[in-house]
Amino acid sequence: MAATLREVCEHLMGCIVLPTPVFDPSAAVPLEALFDLADVKGQMMARLALELAAAGGHSLLMQGTPGTGKSMLAARLAGILPPMTEQESIESAAVASLGKQGFSMKAWGVRPFRSPHHSSSAAALVGGGSDPKPGEISLAHHGVLFLDELPEFDRKVLENLREPLESGVIQLSRVAKQVTYPAKFQLIAAMNPCPCGFFGHPTRACHCTPNVIARYKERLSGPLMDRIDLCCDVPTIPADDLMTLEPGESTKVVRERVVLLRSKQLDRQGMPNAHLQGKAIDRYCVPSAEAKTILMQAMDKLGLSARAYHRILKVARTLADRTDADLIQREHVLAALQFRRGLSQ
Ligand SMILES: [Zn+2]
Repeated sequence: MAATLREVCEHLMGCIVLPTPVFDPSAAVPLEALFDLADVKGQMMARLALELAAAGGHSLLMQGTPGTGKSMLAARLAGILPPMTEQESIESAAVASLGKQGFSMKAWGVRPFRSPHHSSSAAALVGGGSDPKPGEISLAHHGVLFLDELPEFDRKVLENLREPLESGVIQLSRVAKQVTYPAKFQLIAAMNPCPCGFFGHPTRACHCTPNVIARYKERLSGPLMDRIDLCCDVPTIPADDLMTLEPGESTKVVRERVVLLRSKQLDRQGMPNAHLQGKAIDRYCVPSAEAKTILMQAMDKLGLSARAYHRILKVARTLADRTDADLIQREHVLAALQFRRGLSQ
């Protein structure tokens, strides 16, 4: 590491040799220090959605009343994410070094987990300023951008996420200059089912009218919802059931599966399933004849966009990888469609 730019120049000219920074694995946060998934009882669909999101890099929206464990699940995502590749670590560190906080070697190889507040401005979220700085979406490059209470964000601010969610980069144009920052972030979002939060709750009353609920959901635009791969409910579990339910699978067990699944994707196509585009989707996400028929019927019936079609296929690919299947089968497509139900309402 260099203390000054002069030292870098001298190093490059061969006058001095700078010491190579060494990453001390013991300095990294140990797995045991992270929240454990075993604490999340029940919630099988939400747990599967979280695992698929971690393994394939898919975007995820969790819906449920307050206190059902959406934030609890999101907080446990960091523990099951696959380790960063060296290239990802370099890119992520480079972007972090441009941010206000700078980069610390302690963060080397640790996937960023950013959770901006819903009052965040567009500049804070996507970057900006007269000398454009990277925003949260770039600081979350190769990591997670967690948006809690999604409908509470300014709709115009959220719309800025559409383009980078597709392209993985953000272009910031200011009078003086134009800057492009990487922004390959994984969107994980959470929302209540209605403004008061208690729609569908077994004991708490919700007085939100259907109109009010519809308006609340309309705050999220169709095109933004189209860019979400997985949607799951995180229902309230009655207190009596919580007492009797067994602890869930631990972070350690789930992480081992995620790491294997991710390396399978990297070996096959050099990137997580969620990042596949164009011809690569046709090449790597091949459905069986039966699976394709089901998917085409669902497209017709639900009026899904081409973008949604591709996203369903990519989620089905991750599900197929989880069962070691080369071809995407009927059950993988059905499960992927199930995870989109909440998005098409
Ligand atoms: Zn309500």
